[in-house]
Amino acid sequence: MREAIVGRFAPTPSGRMHAGNVFAALMAWLGARTTGGRLVLRIEDLDPRGHRPEATRQLLDDLQWLGLDWDEGPYRQSERTEIYVDAIKRLDELGLVYPCFCTRAQLHAATAPHASDGTFVYAGTCRHLTPDEVAARSETRAPALRLRVPDEDDPAGTIVFDDVVFGPQREVLSRECGDFLVRRSDGVLAYQLAVVVDDALMGVTQVVRGRDLLGSVARQIYLQRLLGYATPTYAHVPLLVAPDGRRLSKRDRDLDLGAIRARDTGPERLLGELAACAGFAEKGETLCADQLVDRFSWDNMRRDDIVF
Ligand code: GLU
Repeated sequence: MREAIVGRFAPTPSGRMHAGNVFAALMAWLGARTTGGRLVLRIEDLDPRGHRPEATRQLLDDLQWLGLDWDEGPYRQSERTEIYVDAIKRLDELGLVYPCFCTRAQLHAATAPHASDGTFVYAGTCRHLTPDEVAARSETRAPALRLRVPDEDDPAGTIVFDDVVFGPQREVLSRECGDFLVRRSDGVLAYQLAVVVDDALMGVTQVVRGRDLLGSVARQIYLQRLLGYATPTYAHVPLLVAPDGRRLSKRDRDLDLGAIRARDTGPERLLGELAACAGFAEKGETLCADQLVDRFSWDNMRRDDIVF
């Protein structure tokens, strides 16, 4: 018998859900429900500038309309600060956290953008500051906090894992990202840290989300190992793109749930269409979430982006 999975929805309430968000949420829901498993709902509202309170309310309503129910939550990351701060303390006790005073301009000048996704590899500028240097710089600037990653020749810095959709992956942390942030200079805790702590404490055993986050897995596994947490399985799903190849965003109002619900066709048309994209329904079928449970399989899931 298959083990019952604990999956999760972890939306950032920055705007109305669009078809791409629904696609990822549906796959997370099916990934758990087809095993008789459970779903946790967690609102990722760590960044006070990045979310609107009414967006959270709307999100819960949209999930209910879609028939994507959950068993636990909603948790709100904005209410869990102490838990994340405690995790940073544990990392600090391992001697792996240091303050970083680099400005955005300095970061961009000192590092080369990483070829695959335009993120920056941290050059290690603040890695070896003396206590006196830290004290002097703290007078004029609040530091961010970074986590040291192993040097290139240390095998602990090479992370290998198997993604359910994208297959075997291998990443060398020092080459792909370098020492990464666990807290920003404005005090906002970093996504990588919060997500690892939450997934572990909430008992999540399978993470399903958009393939834009595939590059975060190595950092998350590294954090899990340092904090003594188990590693869940990962399944990254393709992104939905517009016919011109542009990734759907929350600015594409005609494909957000506001517009889709206004057409008054019920959720079945959208869900059927998304299931067809994932290879387990015929184009044009209308199906509710519960009907998809018997059909779902990861087997035909494609890796390339889906024109929607
Ligand atoms: N909160 C993230 C988002 O909405 C997803 C994070 C995750 O699934 O790990 O894009």
